[in-house]
Amino acid sequence: MADGFTAYEKGLEGKHEQAKDKQAATTKAPAKVIQTPPPQEDYWIPDCFVFARDQTSPLVYLNHKNITTTQAQDIQKAIAYVKQTPTGAALLKVFAQKKAELQIGAHFFSTLADYPYGDASPNESGHTTVASSIAATPIIIFVSVFLAKRKPECIADTFFHELVHVWFLATRTKYNEVAGTGHDPSASITIDPNCKKTYAGYDPAFQQQLQNFDLDLAKIPGAKICCE
Ligand SMILES: [Zn+2]
Repeated sequence: MADGFTAYEKGLEGKHEQAKDKQAATTKAPAKVIQTPPPQEDYWIPDCFVFARDQTSPLVYLNHKNITTTQAQDIQKAIAYVKQTPTGAALLKVFAQKKAELQIGAHFFSTLADYPYGDASPNESGHTTVASSIAATPIIIFVSVFLAKRKPECIADTFFHELVHVWFLATRTKYNEVAGTGHDPSASITIDPNCKKTYAGYDPAFQQQLQNFDLDLAKIPGAKICCE
């Protein structure tokens, strides 16, 4: 987490030099206009590389260096599923309205072992963390998804779950993780053999998002609800 923020600070410094050069060449332009934000890549988790970004929402998509070609295809499919669901599209729309204050890096890892920080627990298939100071903008959020051997609909399920955390932080708790992230640390989903899910420890609005997403996912051709 600290590394991400250090990289962000480095990026600011790098751009400052460039701004000074430009200022020398165009003396009349106000400094405020010349300054550009730091390169987005500098914000993100080490050894992860940007492969796509949303034009409208502040989402950047990164694969860790150990992601295989087959996994990369599954990730693409999972992202497409999330975007095709009305529930997923609605979340992206909320993020788009917050583009000035928010940067979200969606990181995909082969396994949890590739995740370089100690803040994710071994049973997690995804993790979300606020990586910058919430006193300054932009707020940098690391969303991480650990593939293990999961199918595209389950990668989508985890990715969506983590985006709901971002939504909850952005709309309910002003990015303060201590004030709540949408569910208890011990929250659980029990899935019966018929894929009926029973939720425990979830904020009702968070749970509703997950349930709506499942209903949406079932309607997408080729996709189905993740039952694991
Ligand atoms: Zn969660």
